[in-house]
Amino acid sequence: DQSVCAPLPVLGRDVTVPLVTGGEVTYAALDYAASAPALQRVWDDVAAYAPYYGSVHRGAGYLSQLSTDLFENARKAVAEFLGCRADDQVIFTRSTTDSLNLLARTLPVDCQVFVFETEHHASLLPWQDAHVTYLNAPRTPRQAVATLERALADRNPHGPALVCVTGASNVTGELWPVRELAAAAHAHGARIVLDAAQLAPHHPLDIRDLDVDWVAFSGHKLYAPFGAGVLAGRADWLRTAEPYLAGGGASRKVTRRQDGGVDVEWHESAARHEAGSPNVIGAYSIASACKALTEAGWDTLVAREQHLITKVRAGLAAVPQVKVLSLFGDDAPRVGVISFVVDGWNSSHFAAALSAEYGIGVRDGLFCAHPLVRTLLGSDPQAQGECGAPEAAPGEKSLNAIRVSFGAGTPDEHVERFVNAVK
Ligand code: PMP
Repeated sequence: DQSVCAPLPVLGRDVTVPLVTGGEVTYAALDYAASAPALQRVWDDVAAYAPYYGSVHRGAGYLSQLSTDLFENARKAVAEFLGCRADDQVIFTRSTTDSLNLLARTLPVDCQVFVFETEHHASLLPWQDAHVTYLNAPRTPRQAVATLERALADRNPHGPALVCVTGASNVTGELWPVRELAAAAHAHGARIVLDAAQLAPHHPLDIRDLDVDWVAFSGHKLYAPFGAGVLAGRADWLRTAEPYLAGGGASRKVTRRQDGGVDVEWHESAARHEAGSPNVIGAYSIASACKALTEAGWDTLVAREQHLITKVRAGLAAVPQVKVLSLFGDDAPRVGVISFVVDGWNSSHFAAALSAEYGIGVRDGLFCAHPLVRTLLGSDPQAQGECGAPEAAPGEKSLNAIRVSFGAGTPDEHVERFVNAVK
């Protein structure tokens, strides 16, 4: 363990919380998959810049110019972090959900969309206005590629198509075979968008190496504060689609017509989909997080996280009542996101006890991936879930699960406390 680096300093690392059993403990934030604590370094960068921030792309003053430069440099830093191609666009959005909804508005006419039923709702649902094919849950990465290939082979080969796939599952933490799925998509003339909400915080990510057309991720899972996300990738669909939002900043020229109407020329750059005053602090903090992670070094970060994963999985495996949820099996490569159920326990009560008795914050529910969690639990596809799931009687199947997730800021003590608490 001596070879494993120290956790990166994050906000909230000294926060103490009261226990029902008396006394207090430092809070163990083990819900990184929902939102990771911001890196102290990101917070310091934002604090240093905050006194100087001003309007972006719409002010002649010094601070407006400074902010415009910082905003555009943030775009370049994200492009570098993702290994973007020269003609890719980087659009600042509110979140992964926002990014994928934006992309859904740019689909060419008659575009067919292919998405596995195992996706997070942010990847599963934005395509409802298109012709969507929902693919059944594969049980191996190879089956995922074969399933996609079969579905693409059956499609109209002349029309446009898009595949949407996650890089790392927000339920099982398992990595998806993105490079192979991208190759399959391209071999059949389809495009592919990567939902990197859970991949980007845990794993190096290179848009060219993976050969995906777009990448979407959220700042608040990448150790930056809430409120900003990214959609990066091919410019062609983005450049020709109607703007995501109509308004100032997206429009290059607006003129009154003779007939009384209004004509608009929209920008073709990223500004086309960034109408309104942008979230300059959000963009700046994402760029700061990208730089901090790159500087910390992915080899080191991945080694540390794998060390924590080993501890948690070994600890859970030692408790016979615990069942870890998995699609691809024990040997699948994974990030620090692990979901499980405990025989004889209601998952919500279990999670509440971890909080109240041990100061540990995890998540319970169906994790915005209802079809996947129901498949993994073997529960009725119509079963109630999320909030207010009825109690499973002893020996009955759970209707929801518990998720523990961690990353670059997690000290060993947090996962050790978690494993002991479960025991
Ligand atoms: N995709 C995945 C895989 C996720 O885990 C999440 C968040 N849980 C999202 C998309 C949506 O991210 P956001 O809530 O930041 O839009």
